[in-house]
Amino acid sequence: MRNSLAEQRPVVALIGTGGTIASIAEAETQLSDYTVSSAVESLITAVPALGSIAAFEFEQVCNIESHSIDDALLLRIAHRVNAWLAMDHVAAVVITHGTDTLEETAYFLNLVIKSDKPVVVVGAMRPASALSADGPLNLFHAVSVAVCPESAGKGVLVVMNDRVIAARYATKGHTTNVDAFVIPEQGCLGVVSGRDVQYFNAPLRRHTIRSEFRLDPGQAALPPVDILHDYQGAGTHLFQAALQAGVRGIVLAGTGNGSLSPAALAGARLAVGQGVAFVRASRVGQGSVRPSQRDAPLGVVAAQSLNPQKARVLLRLALLQPRDRDALQLLFDEY
Ligand code: ASP
Repeated sequence: MRNSLAEQRPVVALIGTGGTIASIAEAETQLSDYTVSSAVESLITAVPALGSIAAFEFEQVCNIESHSIDDALLLRIAHRVNAWLAMDHVAAVVITHGTDTLEETAYFLNLVIKSDKPVVVVGAMRPASALSADGPLNLFHAVSVAVCPESAGKGVLVVMNDRVIAARYATKGHTTNVDAFVIPEQGCLGVVSGRDVQYFNAPLRRHTIRSEFRLDPGQAALPPVDILHDYQGAGTHLFQAALQAGVRGIVLAGTGNGSLSPAALAGARLAVGQGVAFVRASRVGQGSVRPSQRDAPLGVVAAQSLNPQKARVLLRLALLQPRDRDALQLLFDEY
């Protein structure tokens, strides 16, 4: 008989990568200086209620803090997520991840995952050993969202602090608060409370199966792109250093509405003159950097509503193929 409750539960592939959600500190009041130490299986064991909503298969891709994730690991995560999603018996994928660079992995996956099945990225702001640790409930909520039929086709989702946020828009906006993921302008897609998931919105930007970006099975590297921060009195040396290092693109975390200081303007001219893509985003954190009349003559691209770190993700994927400035701008307009 294949009728047991266990067999009726959707199968969720749980991919562990590390982060605070998998970390332990020496005391329950210690909220920093913790160590990533818990295997992904043990995160599930710590929340027995999860067994009533899903059956799990596990993969530990790495167990590190997210600011240590490099290109090789990012690509490995993406290849493994695609591989799990391609298995018929797998209903959804949940990825546990450090929050520092969670938005970068989530947006990258949003562009290269080729499936409509739900993919949820989740983390925690407090280590598992802390008073009021947020990881267990965030994980329960992530799985609730992953097994919710309405989550299909919405691109990669970030679940933190009771909110369901599109990977395109999720960004970390606080260093320590459990309500760390802010969604300026666009708002969250929905909310989750226990097993109850309520959606209010769907993302309109291209993602997953509607995204043109696709990783080759053997894809082992991505074009190098640097982010440079602009400020009063900036010099051109960092632009020169980036170009000498052989970057294929530069994203400027510009002041205000993506303004260029004299040094950044000189850097942009140098970059474009060498065939290196130059995207101007903003260091402000809210609002769009819309194309200006000066962009095309200068050969510069406007990042629209992508923050610098997400603009870098899109630019690296865009540079996998030769594209001129106008083609790049079109991508930033559409994605
Ligand atoms: N240090 C952590 C990380 O791996 C922060 C976190 O997970 O909240 O990104």
